[in-house]
Amino acid sequence: MDNKPVLSVIAPIYREENNVEPLANRLKNIFDKLNLDWELIFAMDPSPDLTEKRIVDLINQGLPIRLITFSRRIGKPLSLLAGLDHVTGDACIVIDADLQDPPELIEQMIDQWKKGFMVVAAQRTSRKGENFLYLKCAELFYWILDKFSDVKIPRNTGDFRLIDSRVVKEICKIRERHGFLRGMNALAGFSTKLIPFDRDPRLTGKTQISLLGALNIALDGIVPFSRAPLRMIFVLGVFFLAISTLSSVIWIATSAVTGFGVNWPTVLLAILMLFCTGICVTSMGILGEYLMRTYEETRNRPLYVVDRVVESENVPRKLTEKMIT
Ligand code: UDP
Ligand code: MG
Repeated sequence: MDNKPVLSVIAPIYREENNVEPLANRLKNIFDKLNLDWELIFAMDPSPDLTEKRIVDLINQGLPIRLITFSRRIGKPLSLLAGLDHVTGDACIVIDADLQDPPELIEQMIDQWKKGFMVVAAQRTSRKGENFLYLKCAELFYWILDKFSDVKIPRNTGDFRLIDSRVVKEICKIRERHGFLRGMNALAGFSTKLIPFDRDPRLTGKTQISLLGALNIALDGIVPFSRAPLRMIFVLGVFFLAISTLSSVIWIATSAVTGFGVNWPTVLLAILMLFCTGICVTSMGILGEYLMRTYEETRNRPLYVVDRVVESENVPRKLTEKMIT
């Protein structure tokens, strides 16, 4: 019996018609060199361009590809989760389809996996082709994640990583609808090795994730994995209660001497009132973020709807051999 491990590569994909072939070819070169069995899973949001055709062409050429299409655009995080549900390999590698994550790093990832690490995550040391403001926001996001997450999410790691099938199973059990893989991977635990790399600019095309979409992903990374914002509200409440009590005492004491007229403590109190209103409304917003997510989870809607699965005859393990949850 052949005991060679099977590696599954998952690429979420949306409108990447010119990146499909270069990605598949670079992956093929790597796995041919390593002499390993592999499959490439494209988790595809319905794309109005030629992405689907290009993938089907590659399947017809005999590449070990499985294409999963969704009934509507569900976005990258949920596409990734769906991809994980369709993994048949002994380990999977999550990679972007735009070649910002260099596939050549996979060789090092597999080395570390063979040494016994259950997760091997690529850590960005530099990012080419992104604007200054975006990079600063990303820096702030990673700092917040690092400082306030209840679980340890390594700084500057994206979704580009190798995950052992045992960890994949645990992540699939978590099944939260934000689909923030880094957080769910950290929750699942297990030994993790970080590999530094320089992130390339995308090969062709432009990002389809808007600024609002990126902000949403950032909030999905912070809110479900940190109690800190809720605690912050509590601490702020106590702080302002103390300040208002103190200023009231000062106001009463000074007024007792100078007489109870309109004077500076009253003005100070008025300013404090305004400030506190701002804090209250912001706190309601933070509470809303948690409440909204609780509501979304309790509705228990399906995370995604698969439209169709097209599988090459050359995938090492057929999907029918695995139960889809
Ligand atoms: N993507 C997706 N669905 C979407 C938007 C993007 O599957 O609605 C895929 C996209 O094809 C790429 C990956 O997610 O493989 C990352 O997207 P992008 O490069 O636009 O994001 P960025 O690198 O700017 O974070
Ligand atoms: Mg990209």
